[in-house]
Amino acid sequence: MSIFTDVKERLDLKSVAECYGVKNSKNDMICCLFHDDRTPSMKLYHDHYYCFGCGAHGDIIDFAARHFGISNYEAAQKLSSDFSIDGNVRIVSADESSYFNRCKQEKLTELETWMTMLNYLDKLTKWQNEYKPITSFEKLSPQFIESLLKLDYVKYLMDEYLEMSIEERLKFTEEFKETLSEMTKAFKDDELSLVA
Ligand SMILES: [Zn+2]
Repeated sequence: MSIFTDVKERLDLKSVAECYGVKNSKNDMICCLFHDDRTPSMKLYHDHYYCFGCGAHGDIIDFAARHFGISNYEAAQKLSSDFSIDGNVRIVSADESSYFNRCKQEKLTELETWMTMLNYLDKLTKWQNEYKPITSFEKLSPQFIESLLKLDYVKYLMDEYLEMSIEERLKFTEEFKETLSEMTKAFKDDELSLVA
């Protein structure tokens, strides 16, 4: 996957803008980065921005490039490294604001929670097909039963999660700690059994 797709798929424009200190009012409107804007007329969405004043629009990479005055490729690299989505642990310089670091931590928690549900959903979908009984006399496998019991529930949780604000998402991670760790255990165990 290219760095561009990776950044676009995994980061949320609204929370990234907030981490970079772009003031975000209640209704996700900010002052436009492209025209002289006195009252916020640029709307932020999770995957793009749009200015009702001058019509400027683009994705998260365009946004960061414009905000920092760098090229799109540099912006993609910066986003990837600032939010550790390249998997590299980054050395944080002392002058970086604690606000940014807190934000980054929250972003990682958010991403981890989402990936846990997504991986579990993948596993359940796979189980539902792979362990489907062929005859009605067959004893149902625990994996098939789990997929019957949990599939709709996980989908429901993921739908809810998509609608939540960052604060609500962090609360969710805390409240559903046990459910999430059971999910992780379920798909980790399954992967181990495939290797063995
Ligand atoms: Zn504008």
